[in-house]
Amino acid sequence: MKGKLITAMSNNREVRIYVAETTEMVESARVTHDLSPMSTSALGRTLTAASIMGMMSKIDKEKLTFQVKGSNQIKLMVAVADTHGRVKAYMSEPQAESIYTEEGRLDVGGAVGKEGQLIVIRDYGMKEPFIGQTSLVSGEIAEDLAQYFIQSEQQPTAVSLGVKLSKAAHVAFAGGFIVQILPETSEETLTQLESNLSGMASMTALFEEGLDMMQIANQVFAGLGLDALETYELAYVCDCSREKMEMALVGLGEKEITAIIEEEGKAEITCHFCNSTYHFNQSELLALIKINTMS
Ligand SMILES: [Zn+2]
Repeated sequence: MKGKLITAMSNNREVRIYVAETTEMVESARVTHDLSPMSTSALGRTLTAASIMGMMSKIDKEKLTFQVKGSNQIKLMVAVADTHGRVKAYMSEPQAESIYTEEGRLDVGGAVGKEGQLIVIRDYGMKEPFIGQTSLVSGEIAEDLAQYFIQSEQQPTAVSLGVKLSKAAHVAFAGGFIVQILPETSEETLTQLESNLSGMASMTALFEEGLDMMQIANQVFAGLGLDALETYELAYVCDCSREKMEMALVGLGEKEITAIIEEEGKAEITCHFCNSTYHFNQSELLALIKINTMS
């Protein structure tokens, strides 16, 4: 369930790179949600992007929700990440059918469609959350995210994401990188970076060649050097709990809980992210009404 993220700056401190390896995390998502190969590829990219973005935040308590609303087979993917590398994800179509590009790769852009939205919610645990939204460009997720960064956060980036499946349709590798162009970046650095990126293979091809995260970072920053290197752990985990589900029930209000008791005599709540089911019997529900009327 664990993954790894490395981050570094160029020697001249003009650009920053984040590289994540999320193979086991995407495999966990595949098993948890019984994902088809098509769905694994799409949600794996989404989950990887969210885990990197969570770690890009400087605000400790921030919770980042990354949503892709598609228009073809895949209508919704959601990943939630925090600043400690914890990520969880789900999607509305776990069994999307495989479609392929002309090169014979799973066609994530085709499954998601070009007509959707990318929504990023940054919740700082107080005041109103920041919500940024842009139209999808290709549905490939990486391109869509680069477009989001420039349009919604005025932050130029380069993004690459990839998920490679084994013959048995398990996750063989998953990962990605995001390069952040800082405001004072010189023309020289940009030209070097562009030339490095344009010559690079796709994320899955890099993994297939056997490159690790450091080697990928070195390729992206060839001629620029790597400095201030830091390594972090990532994990695919759900933070749901009985207490949180109780709070959600309390939030429904007395009338709604009474209606549930009268109609069902009990409540069952399933967490979207991990499929854990929480059961509440009649007396537990009655106790929740008491909390509600007390507050
Ligand atoms: Zn859960």
